[in-house]
Amino acid sequence: MLRSVNPATGEQIAVHEELSPTALERKLDLAASAFRRWRETSLQDRADLLGNIAYCFEENKDALARMASLEMGKTYRSANAEVEKSAAGFRVYAERGPDMLAPRMQPLTGGGTAETRWLPLGPVLAVMPWNFPYWQVVRFLAPAIMAGNVGLLKHASIVQGVAGLLEEMVLAAGAPEGLFQNLAIRSSAVAAIIADDRVAAVTLTGSEGAGKSVAEAAGRNLKKVVLELGGSDPFIVMPSADLDAAVKQAVTARIQNSGQSCICAKRMIVHADIYDAFLERFADGMRRVKAGDPFDEASDMGPLSSLEQRDTVLKQVEEAKALGATLLFGGEAPEGPGAFLSAGVLTDVPLDSPLMAEEIFGPIAMVFKAADLDDAIRIANDIPFGLGSSVWTRDEAEQEQFIRRIEAGMTAVNQMLASSPEAPFGGIKRSGHGRELGPYGMHEFMNLKTIMHP
Ligand code: NDP
Repeated sequence: MLRSVNPATGEQIAVHEELSPTALERKLDLAASAFRRWRETSLQDRADLLGNIAYCFEENKDALARMASLEMGKTYRSANAEVEKSAAGFRVYAERGPDMLAPRMQPLTGGGTAETRWLPLGPVLAVMPWNFPYWQVVRFLAPAIMAGNVGLLKHASIVQGVAGLLEEMVLAAGAPEGLFQNLAIRSSAVAAIIADDRVAAVTLTGSEGAGKSVAEAAGRNLKKVVLELGGSDPFIVMPSADLDAAVKQAVTARIQNSGQSCICAKRMIVHADIYDAFLERFADGMRRVKAGDPFDEASDMGPLSSLEQRDTVLKQVEEAKALGATLLFGGEAPEGPGAFLSAGVLTDVPLDSPLMAEEIFGPIAMVFKAADLDDAIRIANDIPFGLGSSVWTRDEAEQEQFIRRIEAGMTAVNQMLASSPEAPFGGIKRSGHGRELGPYGMHEFMNLKTIMHP
């Protein structure tokens, strides 16, 4: 049984039956046969389906958003924005997909021509997390459908209501049976599915631990894997930055989704000359953040996704204090039901502490002082992760230094980092490998066929 619990109240919403081995077997068969048919469809047919799915998302926006807020606690406002972004994502691949799949001809020095064509690979298993329960799936699904692949979803156990709605939307849009199926299974069932001959590849977004298990199973079976894991992104502010804009976006970048995003800015690294001014204003902004009912317009953030997630963050805050960090305020769990946690700020976290190798998945910011640009880059890179980063400076030479030297898959300049349907997304180091989105994301799960012509 997979339980959905409202993290704002602690009340059980639903209990979802797990897939039996026989039902799972049927779904894998169906995926394999759906792929044999879907790979033969025209790009226009695929684009039409993506457009219809986008329409279904928009038509059912309220029901979809409500389910996400109920199951994992994000504000209803942000859940609506996520559904809209998901619809936009389907449209982007409908419109730009054909270009991304265009064949290329290369004249060969020895005579003749090599043609390259992008062909689909087969059923792709997506192991996805609860934090953006629609958008994380769309990032994989929209390019996969356009590519001619079919999708199997192992969604996080706590968002099976969302998983069911995703499947419903795709079917309501007119997708053939088996094109996209939700597998209501536990994580312990994933390795056997990766090993199954009917599954061509696997993509995972989630923790390092889950990434290692999935990569191991994929490696053992020589299957392609894309991993989008955690991060502890730096947000670097230099003296020439627009301080008002930087402070405002630093707060948003840390508390969005109750701090539960892989690309939340988790470490504010501030030049010594503006450190005090930044800290004062940033702390003020963080103090004002209101955690409350996700359906209340006045709430800046809802609860964390579960009591277990909150316990993890509370433990990390205690660990930081024990290591000599200063908790300026926040990081408190209020009395009463729900997994609420107040936004907080930590300073003086020792750079060699074990906490630097962890992801704080909650609204707690760490602030560091950097002597100069080199020092800021040193602090930024001194972690095992390499997902995103945000740099604030009006100096173009400094911008270039950051872009070239920060060890991360993504750098946003004078803005907080956010994903977009068109831009490749992913990291290096222990944040994973491979890319989602854009042509690069689409091509991860395709066969680049070389055709030799005389
Ligand atoms: P997990 O990584 O455990 O969950 C993500 C997905 O992976 C879920 O579908 C989960 O299934 C599945 N999964 C977990 N373990 C395995 C495994 N061994 N083999 C195959 N699949 C697996 O994240 P949690 O929800 O436990 O969160 C823990 C931490 O992970 C967070 O505090 C955060 O640091 C990080 N995280 C990062 C995310 C990101 O966007 N990069 C998103 C979510 C979490 P099930 O739900 O059934 O366990």
